[in-house]
Amino acid sequence: MFDDDRPLTTVRVLFSDLHGVARGKDVPAAQFDRVAKSGLRFCAAVMGTDLRHNPVVGGEAGYPDMRAIPDLTTLAHLPWEPGVAACLADLRRPGTDDPEPTDPRAAVRRAVAELDALGFAAVVGPELEFYLCRAGETDGTRPTRFLDRLSMVYTVGPQADPDGIVRRLSEHLSRFGLDTVAANHEFCNSQYEINLREGPALAAADRAFWLKTAVKDVAALNGRVATFMGKPFNDQSGSGFHLHVSLQRDGRNAFDDPGDPDGVSPALRSFAAGVLRHAPALMALLNPTINAYRRLVPDSLAPTHANWGWDNRTTMVRVPPERGRGARLEVRVGDGSANPYLAVAAILSAGVHGLQEALALPAAFAGDVAAAGDAEPGLPLVRSLPAALDALEADDVLRARLAPELVDTFLALKRHEIVRHREWVSDWEVDEYLRHL
Ligand code: GLU
Ligand code: MG
Repeated sequence: MFDDDRPLTTVRVLFSDLHGVARGKDVPAAQFDRVAKSGLRFCAAVMGTDLRHNPVVGGEAGYPDMRAIPDLTTLAHLPWEPGVAACLADLRRPGTDDPEPTDPRAAVRRAVAELDALGFAAVVGPELEFYLCRAGETDGTRPTRFLDRLSMVYTVGPQADPDGIVRRLSEHLSRFGLDTVAANHEFCNSQYEINLREGPALAAADRAFWLKTAVKDVAALNGRVATFMGKPFNDQSGSGFHLHVSLQRDGRNAFDDPGDPDGVSPALRSFAAGVLRHAPALMALLNPTINAYRRLVPDSLAPTHANWGWDNRTTMVRVPPERGRGARLEVRVGDGSANPYLAVAAILSAGVHGLQEALALPAAFAGDVAAAGDAEPGLPLVRSLPAALDALEADDVLRARLAPELVDTFLALKRHEIVRHREWVSDWEVDEYLRHL
């Protein structure tokens, strides 16, 4: 399994917090057998801690422990850190085999089980965009972009990737087993995209989580900062996290239907209807930052309405043109700051609801949503994180399926973030007012 020449010295055990940030411990290789059996202990408040390390949830119970049990099926050598292997862990309540309710990976397992009960297995393909910046150089506020040339979209090779970082990244990730299928410069300056092959839902969520972690790690090793933040620059569009989803039943793609005039099945339509029905609450998990809502503007290739369309990149749910094995839908609304596990779990849970209720899909939207004029492009998406959190809190179906404790912890964390933001005097305000007023 460990294909580099260096002896294994360390095993990194990682899990996702609610932000999708990788947390864990490095275990000396000699200790790993013991850890593989008994797990590692962490203060469970890490699941209720915000990005400024304020423990928002957890104190009321006296900051108890949780256990992280390595999932040995995920153990693999890290090609970018010779001598180091890493694996993912499942979180357990101490003294029990019960999942820690706030474990995002467990939320995907629950959604997969619900689909299984209906006879379906989800196949998910994540597409993540990110910006590469120079570490240690800023424009006063943010790290400067690594490459600031115009019109590099779909450009590959040294012009788009002068140090070969993106190519090396893609090679590393492939050797790591992430099933990367392509890497390219994206639409905006210094923006890149790495596509992962579709796979079973949990494996796909794991791979998207690894991808974000690995891209940030490899960037750090090369004097760069990689960011999946939704809208990091005012003069460039944002970074999406598009999720392609289909369902398998009896070894066939259950979204395909050669007998249908459009070639798609009632299951695809009901699943998509479930996603649209739960759009307001989904926004909280797919766009979980205050910043994310600045990306969702007209003419950005990001959606502004809860709608769908045939091969339409201005809609929230796009049905790509492939049929047969490739029949699927693409949920385009999320940005790179979403926790891959919560994004996958939430979309599947919304889709399951659509299937169970056989929800009807509204008419497809054709054309450019931004130029829709009087044509009705669907309900506008919620425009802010506070509104999305309120929608998530009010969505009994998603709250129950994702686990009430997980959702409540997420809401508390994010509302704390909103309060901190509200009280913070921003650069914009200072630039706008200080000298003039
Ligand atoms: N960057 C766009 C977004 O924020 C998507 C561009 C594309 O279609 O790949 O979603
Ligand atoms: Mg893209």
